[in-house]
Amino acid sequence: MDIPAREPRQVAFAEAVRGISETMRSTPLGWALVAWLAHWQAPPWRIAAWVGVFVPIWLVNVFLLRRVAREGSDPTRHSRLLWIIAALDGIAWGLAVPWLMGIDRTLDSWMAVVLCGVASVNAPAYITEFNAFRALLLALWLTVLAGAATSLQATGSAIPLSVGITVYLVVLIRGMRIIANRVTEGIRLAIENASLASHLERALELSKREATTDALTGVANRRSLDEYLAKCVERNREQNERFGVLLLDLDHFKQINDRHGHMTGDRALRAAAQRIQQALRVGDMCARYGGEEFFAVLPRVDSDMALEVAERIRRTMESQPLLSNPTLRATVSIGVAICDRLMTVEQLIAAADAAVYAAKHNGRNQVQLGSHDAAPVGALRS
Ligand code: GH3
Ligand code: MG
Ligand code: MG
Repeated sequence: MDIPAREPRQVAFAEAVRGISETMRSTPLGWALVAWLAHWQAPPWRIAAWVGVFVPIWLVNVFLLRRVAREGSDPTRHSRLLWIIAALDGIAWGLAVPWLMGIDRTLDSWMAVVLCGVASVNAPAYITEFNAFRALLLALWLTVLAGAATSLQATGSAIPLSVGITVYLVVLIRGMRIIANRVTEGIRLAIENASLASHLERALELSKREATTDALTGVANRRSLDEYLAKCVERNREQNERFGVLLLDLDHFKQINDRHGHMTGDRALRAAAQRIQQALRVGDMCARYGGEEFFAVLPRVDSDMALEVAERIRRTMESQPLLSNPTLRATVSIGVAICDRLMTVEQLIAAADAAVYAAKHNGRNQVQLGSHDAAPVGALRS
């Protein structure tokens, strides 16, 4: 299975960048909540100072995340940057400890809840980029511990906060790691499935094409010609949609093989198929009927138009060499038949076949028109 090894990692990383950016958009809501919780006990300048430090850090993070997303969220280039973004976010939240705690025990408790909440709220966003989540929690934890050690003597919250947040973060990280592994595995499986599905689709497409295409010349094969002719005859019977057919047989092709070998003969057949196809309209069908014989189906033509197309093909085959190296010419005898409303596929082919036979009999390199009763009529030799 040809799944690029880095693809699931890239998808997971881009998903994390998107999720983190989204979560970071709700940070101002966190400031508002903290400011509201703190405004009864903490002096306004402390709240303003904390938010004043947080805002530039937040702006830098938002800017960096946008840049990462713009540059394609590439884990090999951006994973370290994401760790830094996460750590800065953790530090900024942790700074709430020295600024807003140690004033009042109730506020300390609320702030502990907020900090645990911050860690939890970020967990889903970081789930597919677990190392960045570790960086966030580590930076938050260290900042909280440092803040608690220096600023919480007055309320005596240093030890409960340090122990509480340590236990909470350890439990959180263990629980989230299990979910993170499952999510990452899910992404990998989803990508494998998608890749397998497109692989199968391509294989199916290819085998369909192979089933309907002639391997040597690339035009439709006999099987798809038979199916198409049956449909055309049916439509003609039901809706009176007349159509014409050409049976084209290369003249003295055996001599080409004998003189130049089979490989060159094959190249000549490919060139002949191309030339016939180029002479047809977009809606016409060209098929290899067998050996050195081709068949063309021309929808909505009368006998004059069909003869004209046949004559045009005959003339280009006569005037331009099929191959240039070696220079190789081949003429073609063409039987034309028009499907009238009562005709079956067999009768139509018999009419075209009889017309080719007549063309061969009359000296080759010519177009003949076949009739319903399979007797060749009229010559168009130029
Ligand atoms: P005529 O003008 O009467 O049609 O003569 P002809 O030699 O074209 O017809 P004949 O039926 O005697 O021979 C057909 C030749 O086409 C013989 C065969 O080797 C060649 N041929 C058929 N299929 C292929 C093919 O796939 N590759 C090559 N190189 N030759 C093929
Ligand atoms: Mg033949
Ligand atoms: Mg032939």
